[in-house]
Amino acid sequence: MSELIAESGRCVACGLCLPHCPTYRKTLSEADSPRGRIMLMQGVLEGRLAVNERFLAHIDLCLGCRACEAVCPNNVPYGRLVAGMRGVIGRTRRRSLWRRLLRSVLVDGVVTKPAMLRLVSGIVRIWQALGLQALAGKFSGLRRFGLTRIAVQLSPMKAQPRWKAVYLPVGEVRGEVGLFLGCVARVSDVETLSASIFVLNKLGYRVYVPSDQSCCGAMHENLGEAEKACNFERKNIDAFAGLNLDAIISTASGCGATLKVYPPAFAGKVMDISEFLAGAQGWEGAAIAPLAAKVAVHEPCSMRNVLRCANRPYDLLRRIPSVLVEPLAGNDQCCGAAGTYFLSQPKMAESLLADKTAAAKASGARFLVSSNIGCAMHMAGGLREAGVEIKVVHPVALLARQMGFEDSKAR
Ligand code: SF4
Ligand code: SF4
Repeated sequence: MSELIAESGRCVACGLCLPHCPTYRKTLSEADSPRGRIMLMQGVLEGRLAVNERFLAHIDLCLGCRACEAVCPNNVPYGRLVAGMRGVIGRTRRRSLWRRLLRSVLVDGVVTKPAMLRLVSGIVRIWQALGLQALAGKFSGLRRFGLTRIAVQLSPMKAQPRWKAVYLPVGEVRGEVGLFLGCVARVSDVETLSASIFVLNKLGYRVYVPSDQSCCGAMHENLGEAEKACNFERKNIDAFAGLNLDAIISTASGCGATLKVYPPAFAGKVMDISEFLAGAQGWEGAAIAPLAAKVAVHEPCSMRNVLRCANRPYDLLRRIPSVLVEPLAGNDQCCGAAGTYFLSQPKMAESLLADKTAAAKASGARFLVSSNIGCAMHMAGGLREAGVEIKVVHPVALLARQMGFEDSKAR
């Protein structure tokens, strides 16, 4: 508590962060700005303000995008502050039935349990094959609970692979890396994980995929459950222990941002796949087919504001001959997915999503690339709903395709 008070005291109320805050831009309310939220948090921490519904509404509306932190001249650690505050209020907070269900059934019971995820993804595949996805939007009951949002976001599910413990390169071995699978990504973004193994092997890297790895803990951290997040941390540290790795590769920047705050021995090895590949060896022997198409690059907040490597996907994509790579307009603003935010704050999330959909449509691009699966699913759902035909894909999956990777043959 005293640490949070000291950290919040770094804010000099200059207001330079305000124009960079998506919720402030949308509401023009000081209480929904970083400066306003810091003052509210200070009031609560110092016992001058009560934790009431109005306070919670302003804290809950924060996306945790950390755009404010990236521009703050006084290095206010806003991300740590809001996570700490959520932890403090999470211990005593009374939550609605829907939020309790979201937490215990969806997050604790399914998303963070690989076996349950596999089972549910199998059911979803049958559901999609029967064409029931379109029906979901018609049930007002589902709409009220935000479940249509999930239904719309799900791209066609692929069969779940049994990951091998190690994937070997052909020819000279240039290094050894571990692959972090994530929880949502291992079900809904198998293509990116397989494509990453393909490219890493092509360049000469041996890829280890420890079977005991787990969710990174980001969802529990966002929900103010630091203890559960720590359990995931311990599990992942144990899973990768004993391997002599050059890097632990994450293919979703949201997970990467969480893995980066694990203890230094682990965090120091974590790299986003684009960042790793940009500095990798072995490119001289890689054949990359040209692609005469425009590619718009979405920069996830976790990559821009936390990992600070948003330039890497551009470097990687420019290895593809003939491709035209451009940033998506409005990259400084969150897409609204933000973990489970799109479910808990659907109004703000949809407003932010509409901005991304409009920017993608105006770009005239054939592909929209994103390095974070949560953002990619959110934006793909928005584009599908708006009838905009742009393929949303991870940058490494797009590069891998040009290197001969075929998703259907990968497993
Ligand atoms: S958080 Fe930083 S940029 Fe924002 S008002 Fe405080 S000191 Fe200024
Ligand atoms: S984390 Fe994002 S939404 Fe929250 S105050 Fe900072 S800029 Fe605004």
